[in-house]
Amino acid sequence: MRKKKVAVIGAGAAGLMTACAAAQAGAQAVVLERNEKAGKKIYITGKGRCNLTNACEPEEFLRHVVSNPRFLYSALYGFDQYAMMDFLSQNGCPVKTERGARVFPVSDHASDVTKALTECLKRNGGSIRYHSRVREILTSQADDGMQKAVGVKLESGEEIAADAVVLCTGGLSYPSTGSTGDGYSMAKALGLPVKAQEPSLVPLVCEEEWCRRLQGLALKNVQVRLYAPQEEQTGQKTKKASKRPLYEGFGELLFTHFGLSGPLILTASCKCSWEGKNRDRAYRLFIDLKPAIPLKELEDRIAKEFAAAGRKHFPAALRPLFPARLAQEVSLMAGLGEDRTAASVSGNEIRSLAALIKEIPVTITGTRGFQEAVVTRGGIDVKSFDPHTMECRLIHGLYAAGEVLDLDAHTGGFNLQIAWSTGHLAGVSCSGER
Ligand SMILES: Cc1cc2nc3c(=O)[nH]c(=O)nc-3n(C[C@H](O)[C@H](O)[C@H](O)COP(=O)(O)OP(=O)(O)OC[C@H]3O[C@@H](n4cnc5c(N)ncnc54)[C@H](O)[C@@H]3O)c2cc1C
Repeated sequence: MRKKKVAVIGAGAAGLMTACAAAQAGAQAVVLERNEKAGKKIYITGKGRCNLTNACEPEEFLRHVVSNPRFLYSALYGFDQYAMMDFLSQNGCPVKTERGARVFPVSDHASDVTKALTECLKRNGGSIRYHSRVREILTSQADDGMQKAVGVKLESGEEIAADAVVLCTGGLSYPSTGSTGDGYSMAKALGLPVKAQEPSLVPLVCEEEWCRRLQGLALKNVQVRLYAPQEEQTGQKTKKASKRPLYEGFGELLFTHFGLSGPLILTASCKCSWEGKNRDRAYRLFIDLKPAIPLKELEDRIAKEFAAAGRKHFPAALRPLFPARLAQEVSLMAGLGEDRTAASVSGNEIRSLAALIKEIPVTITGTRGFQEAVVTRGGIDVKSFDPHTMECRLIHGLYAAGEVLDLDAHTGGFNLQIAWSTGHLAGVSCSGER
């Protein structure tokens, strides 16, 4: 019997998994990759160690998915984190679980994940064609009047016939890895709806100079609260609205030459959008430098420290509480100049200082863009795809998997698992008989 021919566009996480699953299910899988090698983005994941999944319960997993978690039910339950861990172990890449249930290859080399996938594909008769940028998905009219995918056309003009085509071109983030949004234009050319894209899991740009002056300083165990832009300009951009925060989190923050980064900020960025009415507006972020100490306790602690510091001047008087550079900036913000001694600070000033430490305002004006974003939010609307098969509802034989779809999640291995799960489902579905 003739093997079903499957053309997979993109040799990233989703494309490689799609091709492996299709080849294992008996199809003839060929992956078309524009780059000279497979998995360029996989190599840089997890700082080169590849945080390939998260070993939490599936329900918990779905809580970390930002866009369209319900769409992922079938894909995730059909091929979950443990299935991925087994897949890698069986293909020569044993894995280990670290803090926060983050899973990595035992070797700490992201390249071993790619190697496991490419070798599995080869063993099952599949192949990868490099330097093969796809420009168009070819379709024809099926017997039932619907369009069906019949192959792809490369940049060179060459046409490759296929029984099924799987779009795995990724999003727009880190374009140097090959994901430059080709999948969106190919989908649009076929009339599929594509949602506006924005960078997510991305460092945030802020207005305040003091943040920039602290560049390079990392703070562990701080809390941030992010508030939506105010509807009307009040002249007090950082004034806290009564609304609930969009995001509240605890962890590590990094000051940079443009503003803020670090795991806490990347997660907060999932809640920021500068689309539509928010185009020129600023988000308000409040940093609590001492989240473990309640306000009243902090006031008492500062009073005690200042009593002990006596004739010490600022910012030295704040040194027991903060690193030197931060003590300097906090002193400036609190209006405690170098001419002041700790002993001269009044009770009211101590209360204002404690309140500031618990709630330092920062004005967030934008992101660092796709160049520095871990993922893309938005993409091909999942409504045009069947979540039980990953097949397009409008074009027979066309499938999609991974970040090209409007799917994104928090850091911690969730985004790669989305690629593995949707890729596996697409690979199995497209290789079967309809
Ligand atoms: C710096 C960084 C670190 C990250 N770390 C983690 C992490 O530790 N854990 C985690 O879960 N997630 C992480 N992510 C996110 C994760 O890497 C992505 O979500 C995931 O790789 C998406 O997989 P994908 O296959 O859908 O897309 P991609 O990995 O982007 O793959 C798309 C592939 O398609 C190819 N392609 C594009 N257009 C064409 C075309 N026209 N023709 C042929 N080929 C084409 C591209 O060259 C590329 O190889 C990280 C991302 C970045 C940028």
